[in-house]
Amino acid sequence: VIEKGLPLKSTITTCAYCGVGCSFEVQTQGYEIVRLVPYNNGHANHGHSCVKGRFAWTYALSPERVTKPMMRKSIEDPWKEVSWEEAIAYVASEFKRIADKYGRYSIGAVSSSRCTNEEDFVVQKLVRAVFRNNNIDTCARVCHSPTGYGLKAAYGTSAGTNPFDSVRFSDVIFVIGANPTDGHPVFGSQLKRRLREGARLIVADPRKIDLVRSPHIKADYHLQLRPGTNVALLNAIAYTILEEGLENRAFIEQRCNQESFKKWLQFIRKEENSPERAQEITGVPAELIRGAARLYATGGNAAIYYGLGVTEHSQGTTAVLAIANLAMLTGNVGKDGAGVNPLRGQNNVQGSCDMGSFPHEFSGYRHVSDYQTRNLFEEAWNVPLDPEPGFRITNMLTEAVYGNFKGIYVHGEDLTQSDPDSHHVVEALKSMELVVLHDIFLNEMSQYCHVFLPGCSFLEKDGTFTNAERRIQRVRQVMPPLCGKQEWEVIQEIAQAMGYPMHYNHPSEIMDEIARLTPTFRGVSYEKLDRLGSIQWPCNEEEAAEGTPIMHREKFFKGLGEFHITGYVPTPERPTRQFPLILTTGRILHHYNVGTQTRRTQNILWSKEDILEIHPSDAEERGIKEGDLVEVTSRKGSGIFRCKITDRVQPGTVYATFHFPESRANIVTTEISDWATNCPEYKVTAVQVSALARE
Ligand code: SF4
Repeated sequence: VIEKGLPLKSTITTCAYCGVGCSFEVQTQGYEIVRLVPYNNGHANHGHSCVKGRFAWTYALSPERVTKPMMRKSIEDPWKEVSWEEAIAYVASEFKRIADKYGRYSIGAVSSSRCTNEEDFVVQKLVRAVFRNNNIDTCARVCHSPTGYGLKAAYGTSAGTNPFDSVRFSDVIFVIGANPTDGHPVFGSQLKRRLREGARLIVADPRKIDLVRSPHIKADYHLQLRPGTNVALLNAIAYTILEEGLENRAFIEQRCNQESFKKWLQFIRKEENSPERAQEITGVPAELIRGAARLYATGGNAAIYYGLGVTEHSQGTTAVLAIANLAMLTGNVGKDGAGVNPLRGQNNVQGSCDMGSFPHEFSGYRHVSDYQTRNLFEEAWNVPLDPEPGFRITNMLTEAVYGNFKGIYVHGEDLTQSDPDSHHVVEALKSMELVVLHDIFLNEMSQYCHVFLPGCSFLEKDGTFTNAERRIQRVRQVMPPLCGKQEWEVIQEIAQAMGYPMHYNHPSEIMDEIARLTPTFRGVSYEKLDRLGSIQWPCNEEEAAEGTPIMHREKFFKGLGEFHITGYVPTPERPTRQFPLILTTGRILHHYNVGTQTRRTQNILWSKEDILEIHPSDAEERGIKEGDLVEVTSRKGSGIFRCKITDRVQPGTVYATFHFPESRANIVTTEISDWATNCPEYKVTAVQVSALARE
């Protein structure tokens, strides 16, 4: 009930859903939130928003929120509410006991792309300075880790090249493995506006996404490839550009490493990369591939936008490298309207990666083995640091099953739903002596936890998020934490209870430390963020005092851009007689990831279950009718979905959403992962589909 007569107060903060990073004005009256209004001066959204950001925030006030710490000795026991003092003392003493008994590499942490930069920085500091190892990983591992690896290898830094607004200058827009109108709706609208103004469009996707079906937009090319064949397609586009002499020789000579280009030329000109060969692999007619290649190379400023349909594959990193090759080949880097632009799924994927949440890198993507960097952190933190990379999430879980990894702190993530092969995750969690979950709701994973630390919604936090265009924006507290403590305070108190002096008074002090220790953030401060509204890193006083909207303008971050050989290797996951269809997965507009928040928001109750799209011919063959409940079975397990018969998918391919735990989408997916980063191959699973019941 909103108290009458109180003045309306306004707080500007940042949406906690997707990587667009829309700014909102949160209007409150007394302690009550009246509404969220898209902020006209928001640099990422300019007064626009989508249904999730504007309306799907009431989960923050859900009665299901856990507001008191809970503990239990065994996962068989019931939860018992305890004080913060007791919970923190127990967590600290258990981590110390386990490290003493099994060694310091037996404990670690997983940080979150949903949390603020400051929280992520403090979690990795807890691991490196207090646990005294590098066993820190982030949930970005399972989405955009190939982007980090690939773009760093090619261009020198793990980030997209251009701001969203740059699309206004694009003549050609190439969308591959992304569905911006559902996944990144505010940017999707901006992109559609540019297309209506006349920009040309290439879409590479196994499914007819909305950009292909919209009556107001004409996609020049829809390359409807088989799931798992991106690399063959991208190589064939590059082959065509070279075959027809459409490459940008001047850019390559001035801006790229010639040695790498020569080696790549020898590879890419091989017949195995021809459009005819790609047609056999991808199912896309060679003439369409040639046409798309000509348009991308000669149509003017050409921008590539990609998403998890590129990264979540056994060749996710190879595909990112192939995209980076294409942009260099045509000179489409370092200018308006062009670039390589990963569309990040979660609000702070970019930030969590920037903050040193990977087991091999400090903040700013500097390797832990680098003596100078390590020395800088050792002096700042007053503790010797480990020069060896630590465990990735997958290593932590596997080592747990082997009995070598015994205690984990997990921040804002449900490992059982977000990571592949749920059976393995559960076995690993059950093998540990201490599983600590820090989150706002009990989730599937909490069944296997010993300690639950209540967290804060974005409305209760102070800090910053960094969106997909490297834009750092303030998150401002609208209401006090329901649980009594902000998350960075809890992490700090665990560190203190383990004997390490950590004494921040406010997240701005954490940002000041990030700036001191991270060259790409050197010029960032809360004062400047408040003054400018946002800052795109790199930001430093010498060269870019107000940030860097477009990267690699004069030279690449690493000096010269580097071409990489990107041979196509088919995924081991193939259709068989038993599992003849290929399942790929994605989101719908109204829901978000595993639905922890959007399922608890009344505004969007119209969508209550996951759906499976199947082609009419595949449905008929199996006696499946529209709306049937169907069982989807793979060699790993089975899940239940509501069936939708549509020609959006091709015969042989089915598509499922993954927002509801009941559908068990992650039980179906396989253990196969990207060769470089272990990012799971969520986009290709061989399955069978059968009707269950008709209602
Ligand atoms: Fe939030 Fe993304 Fe929607 Fe913007 S587009 S309101 S950031 S969910």
